[in-house]
Amino acid sequence: MKVLVPVKRVVDYNVKVRVKSDQSGVDIANVKMSMNPFDEIAVEEATRLKEKGVATEVIAVSCGVVQSQETLRTAMAIGADRAALVQTDVELQPLAVAKLLKAVVDKEQPQLVILGKQAIDDDANQTGQMLAALLGWSQATFASKVEVSGDTATVTREIDGGLETLSIKLPAIITTDLRLNEPRYVTLPNIMKAKKKQLDVYTPEDLGVDVAPRLKTLKVAEPPARSAGIVVPDVATLVEKLKNEAKVI
Ligand code: AMP
Repeated sequence: MKVLVPVKRVVDYNVKVRVKSDQSGVDIANVKMSMNPFDEIAVEEATRLKEKGVATEVIAVSCGVVQSQETLRTAMAIGADRAALVQTDVELQPLAVAKLLKAVVDKEQPQLVILGKQAIDDDANQTGQMLAALLGWSQATFASKVEVSGDTATVTREIDGGLETLSIKLPAIITTDLRLNEPRYVTLPNIMKAKKKQLDVYTPEDLGVDVAPRLKTLKVAEPPARSAGIVVPDVATLVEKLKNEAKVI
């Protein structure tokens, strides 16, 4: 069984991004970029499925600029066998990514696609669901546990009321939640090995997909600055201020 893992290159989660002065977006020039954390969890899960003998091959795929090759090399250092980059400088929106991934799925014929539940840059949380719809496949989102047996995946999901367990028929789409696993550290020997693994490069045109944006960002703004707090001498003053100044009780 082949497993496909889409990975996105995003601003590293430790970076505090700044809004560009023209409010057209955030400034990502010269900031550290890394693999989307939920995608690292997806690569780890696919690698564990391979180690258990459930998966036969793990293929990482990224859509975006040429530097996404670094992200794919990291995926291969974690455990992916090979990788594919759909290279474009166009800023990709989730529907375009889902269409590109559908084209890669048609080519590779995996039984399982494991994506992150969301990319931490745009927080869209759409690509996995759109891909499932385009393919007409079952989907189980926000997985915190995955077991695959035969042509069925049993997926536990964290929902508001507790844990929900779904049984879905393969081929299927799964998206990862934070508690699914803890990705391993990539070791130097594995980084070296990853450099020799196969990395194919396509363009959206090769795959026959139009990636032109459908949505227009009108404005990106910083959140309003919080005003300073005060220290109250006692509970009575606190209650008085909540009642008469903040008017929240
Ligand atoms: P999103 O819908 O943008 O929040 O992204 C959800 C998931 O879709 C990510 O965690 C990735 O697994 C996948 N994804 C999104 N954008 C890309 C991309 N440009 N290349 C590869 N995978 C992507």
